[in-house]
Amino acid sequence: MQFSSHTIIVEQYPQPDEHLLYNTRTQALVKIPAAVKTAIETYDSSEVSAVSRYQEDLDVLYRMGLIVNNLEEDLQRIKDHMRQLKSSVDRKSFPVTLLTTYACNLKCSYCFEESSRTNEKMPPDTQQQAMTWLKSKLIEQRYQKLYLTFYGGEPLANKPAIKTIATHMQQWCRDRGIEFNFMLQTNGYLMTPDLIRQYLKLGLNQVRISVDGVGQEHDKYRPLRKGGGSFDVIMKNILDCCDLVLIGISVSYEKGQVEKIDRLFDYLDDLGILHKLGRFLFSPIHATLGPEGHPEYIQNSSCMCNYDDQMLVESQRKINRYMQQRGLPMRSGMSTSVCPVTRDEAGITIDQKGYLYKCNSMLGHKEFSTGHVSEAEYNERHQEFLGLDVWKQCPVDCTYMPMCSGGCRLSSFLNNQHFNRPTCHKPYLNRMAREFIIKDYERIMTQQKEIQQEQIVR
Ligand code: SF4
Ligand code: SF4
Repeated sequence: MQFSSHTIIVEQYPQPDEHLLYNTRTQALVKIPAAVKTAIETYDSSEVSAVSRYQEDLDVLYRMGLIVNNLEEDLQRIKDHMRQLKSSVDRKSFPVTLLTTYACNLKCSYCFEESSRTNEKMPPDTQQQAMTWLKSKLIEQRYQKLYLTFYGGEPLANKPAIKTIATHMQQWCRDRGIEFNFMLQTNGYLMTPDLIRQYLKLGLNQVRISVDGVGQEHDKYRPLRKGGGSFDVIMKNILDCCDLVLIGISVSYEKGQVEKIDRLFDYLDDLGILHKLGRFLFSPIHATLGPEGHPEYIQNSSCMCNYDDQMLVESQRKINRYMQQRGLPMRSGMSTSVCPVTRDEAGITIDQKGYLYKCNSMLGHKEFSTGHVSEAEYNERHQEFLGLDVWKQCPVDCTYMPMCSGGCRLSSFLNNQHFNRPTCHKPYLNRMAREFIIKDYERIMTQQKEIQQEQIVR
């Protein structure tokens, strides 16, 4: 008996004679006394009687995947897990992103679509083909829910397409007992309360808006295409709509410059809406593929230093502190993931021409599309992406394998001009894992206390 190579031990926490165990494959998190840890570490050399005292605990830890009988069993489990991640279909929900248009009223300095930008809107016949394709996928894979994200360009630059598709798909899904909802990924400039009220009837359940700082700080990154700032109008629209629908905010930041997030939180707090808003998402601005036909001419390549692990660690710590100070809910930093590009049936993006993409960052590069809504089958690119088992190039006992699966395929292309190399952030994970696990443990403890207090009050 031994610890799984995917178990992380947070030593001497929360008490000096206790330890937290977290398994990156099963996501099990438990607290054990120091004596149980010693029993596991000395299992093979201990007297039977010394181990049997803890046998019940060991059985539980084994079932949670935190300990294994031997290394071979551990490695077999991770291989099975990786195979399952790739081929499993989550039938609870089919997430699909739809570009109603490639046009945009803003000209963001880091936009990955800018080099292949056109003013093209999704024409009615492509809308019909897209809906036919969606219906056949929903039936074929027996999904229980369709979750659309209207995206662009700026999706609100083609409102008729949103209305047509949402109205039709809502009715079609309703007739078949399939749940239907959609979200808007918008820059917020054209959003109005009237529009939100209309969309709520059609299944809208959230809006995500990018805000990159306060005032001129935002306007520097996200100016209007015709010139001038966009911040004031966007903030007014958020204020007008945030009581109608859940609005999440995405913030992009450059080279570790996260102090603007602190200022944005203060600003939203002064307006009285910080705690009304949905989830915040933060991402470093990164390099993007080159212009149409030349994805290898990487743009913003100086931004690739944003992926420097030290910068990511410092930025993440600061953001966590800003959120903690304001009591904002934080997402767990520990989760299993595999790049959707390498999965058979996961989310998909349909562009305004009807081409299918497995990753939004590849939009505008037809050579990376995996099919078209007019065709029933995916193309050879889909098969090529499916074969990208880059995790096989990593040490199979890497603790973080279930969290990373060899990393982002786009990053591999940006760094190597091909998709088949692991992109490893192990130093970042090595430095952050303990903090993430402790945060998760504290969150669970707080939730348990709240439940107990509620039960006492009742
Ligand atoms: S290639 Fe990277 S950005 Fe694209 S889906 Fe995969 S992990 Fe996400
Ligand atoms: S890319 Fe790095 S962290 Fe991810 S599985 Fe491979 S070695 Fe581990």
